[in-house]
Amino acid sequence: MEGRVRERIPILDLTPEVEELWDDLMAAITRVLRSGQFILGPEVEAFEREVAEYLGVKHAIGVNSGTDALVIGLRALGIGPGDEVITTPFSFFATAEAISLVGATPVFVDIDPKTFNLNPDLIAAAITPRTKAILPVHLYGRPAEMDPILDLAEAHGLKVLEDCAQAFGATYRGKKVGTLGHAGAFSFFPSKNLGAYGDGGLLVTNDDEVATLGRMLRAHGSKRKYYNETVGYNSRLDALQAAILRVKLPRVDTWNQARRQVALRYNELLADVPGLVLPEVSEGHVFHQYTVRVLNGKRDEVQQRLDVQGISTLVYYPVPLHRLPVYGYPSGSFPWAERLATEVLSLPIWPQMGLEAQAWVAQVLARVLKKK
Ligand SMILES: *Cc1c(COP(=O)(O)O)cnc(C)c1O
Repeated sequence: MEGRVRERIPILDLTPEVEELWDDLMAAITRVLRSGQFILGPEVEAFEREVAEYLGVKHAIGVNSGTDALVIGLRALGIGPGDEVITTPFSFFATAEAISLVGATPVFVDIDPKTFNLNPDLIAAAITPRTKAILPVHLYGRPAEMDPILDLAEAHGLKVLEDCAQAFGATYRGKKVGTLGHAGAFSFFPSKNLGAYGDGGLLVTNDDEVATLGRMLRAHGSKRKYYNETVGYNSRLDALQAAILRVKLPRVDTWNQARRQVALRYNELLADVPGLVLPEVSEGHVFHQYTVRVLNGKRDEVQQRLDVQGISTLVYYPVPLHRLPVYGYPSGSFPWAERLATEVLSLPIWPQMGLEAQAWVAQVLARVLKKK
């Protein structure tokens, strides 16, 4: 590409999707504006029906964010002060924050470096008489190993809440994530695989009681307006966001498939680059992130050199949750989470990402890592 200035490659480009859907989005937004109803209402109900059908789950409850879906999900499952919830230290802060917000204690268990998710072999040792739930995260869009988690939960009478914020549409043994445990929490933050154009989230469950509680909790703890039965939240999904999500939902499988193609292509382009561990394109993985491990302490240098060449990358996440001051576990508590925090690098990925951009990322990576 001599002689022309390359455009910066972002970590994610949402503009092609907006272009593709422009007319449908405008029609949906106009419909809501003309309806005069902006919070909950028929648009949200229609989205809840459609998304429940897509996921194959009985109840879908639109809320304000993925974080709220986790908080409301935990409370609807009966988790509260004094309870312990087993989760991964390698996630976005909201995963543990939600546990703390309901007054429970997050108990971390190390991850499997191959999947970046909870290592199911380590969970049993973390169960105490206070343990009430397991909160697995399907990180980067890769489903956590649910069978052993569900077996343990059943054996010990624990609830399972899935954090599906990064894994909309991902499947585990043919079933959509979020429908495997007692409840699932999704985020519609704009960068997620199914993103709104603002904040939004979803709680799903097959359990009628959990659904009833979840619906109450998102609306100030009331079933009927002004007859509040418990202290809840103001956490309702907007009609505008629901209408936008209804336009995007029918496309999400195509986009997730395209993300897998981008991942496969990266794996081919990067196969011979030394000092990298590439992610497995495993069954049901929807590649919210395409995340490599950069070995030999070179991650930060590689990230900087890609940046100089106009390639954006991100580190999800530089500090494992247990090492954040709020939790303050000592160094060495969870060696894999701590090591991967120094090695992971997420490369640009979005469904419409072109081969030329990918080839450039791979070429720069190869150049940086081959040089002594
Ligand atoms: C994005 C995210 C959340 C929080 O979702 P918000 O909609 O931003 O509140 C929770 N957990 C994980 C793993 C996430 O990636």
